[in-house]
Amino acid sequence: MEYIKSKIRDVEDFPTKGVLFKDLTTAFKDPRALHIIGFDLSQLYRNKGVTKVVGIESRGFIGGSILAYELGAGFVPCRKPGKLPADTIKKTYAKEYGEDTIEIHRDAITEDDIVVIHDDVLATGGTMAAAYDLVKQLNPKKIYISFIIELSALNGRANLPQDVDVNSLITY
Ligand code: AMP
Repeated sequence: MEYIKSKIRDVEDFPTKGVLFKDLTTAFKDPRALHIIGFDLSQLYRNKGVTKVVGIESRGFIGGSILAYELGAGFVPCRKPGKLPADTIKKTYAKEYGEDTIEIHRDAITEDDIVVIHDDVLATGGTMAAAYDLVKQLNPKKIYISFIIELSALNGRANLPQDVDVNSLITY
């Protein structure tokens, strides 16, 4: 874990002033760090019968794809509006400034699925709460939530359903 941490770059004032951005591109480009991230993420969900991993656009696509591959599960993208070509369900949620919408294909998840929803960073939790709401509407058997990094000072867990298993590899 210390090795992954050593490869995460802190960028001040990105994307706006006052935000300390945890940049994972410096970890993803490092072969050993990428391998450890994939291994550690997948260890958390082995033998849980996971059938689909939902990755949140766009940084959640990287760890989410690796996790799906490692678990022998399918990958489902949860995307910004207007990007998915077929019938979708959408969720609009409040952000610090204004609001945002995400969507998922209506036929991406079935009632037989066991799902992990993955994003790179848990900040306020607004994005993940919206993604959870979408996946929940599709009524899978079970939903897990996974992050690489959790920013505990922002208390994002409080915005996530309390009865759901939430895992983060690294907490700051
Ligand atoms: P949230 O506030 O939890 O809805 O975060 C929204 C998205 O922004 C997440 O998908 C994260 O990838 C990203 N994000 C928010 N804050 C940070 C941060 N300090 N460093 C890196 N990514 C962030």
